[in-house]
Amino acid sequence: VKPVPVIDVALVHHPVRDRRGETITTAINNVDVHDIARSCRTYGVRVFHVVTPITAQQAIAERILVHWREGEGATRLPERGDALDRVRIAASIEDVVAGMTAELGERPTTIVTSAAPPTDRVWLGHSDAAARLRIEGVTLLVLGNGHGLTDDVMQGADEVLAPIVGVDGYNHLSVRAAAAILLDRLLRRDA
Ligand code: SAM
Repeated sequence: VKPVPVIDVALVHHPVRDRRGETITTAINNVDVHDIARSCRTYGVRVFHVVTPITAQQAIAERILVHWREGEGATRLPERGDALDRVRIAASIEDVVAGMTAELGERPTTIVTSAAPPTDRVWLGHSDAAARLRIEGVTLLVLGNGHGLTDDVMQGADEVLAPIVGVDGYNHLSVRAAAAILLDRLLRRDA
């Protein structure tokens, strides 16, 4: 039996770039976790991985999740708990890939995203990506916080997704908005 294609999403807080292009670690923010978790749940993403190497940050994220899974949040807004049930915390992209490989028996195809992907790599178009996700085995879609993923991460990925393009070159979407747009383009069923 053909296994159902699986897609996970990762929001990376390190390594990401700052406005000067330096590599930094950004703080997890509650809005990103909630907003992207709801988008992921809507489009059938298996797991939304929140990536940070900072243990104090991991603890903060864990506390958010517990509150919404079992705590007062879960009783007040069970559907939010349903979305956050699919959130996991990881220390690195490598850990996410290793975990998925162990759990799913197949190494994920990593697809990185950016408003300005490297021009020395071929970009995967959105409709091509959508078609592949309908048949492909296991995929990890990687989003960056801060000013985006570092060049190492972009170069190390299996695929570089073409950017979402606006109408006149202005291109400063939040990672939350970009996640929602990309998930719709790649996973919508009514297209
Ligand atoms: N930290 C700010 C925030 O969240 O409001 C800015 C988001 S950050 C610049 C960039 C991330 O959002 C990228 O790593 C990518 O995942 C996503 N992103 C932003 N614009 C995009 C675009 N035009 N196409 C594809 N992905 C985009």
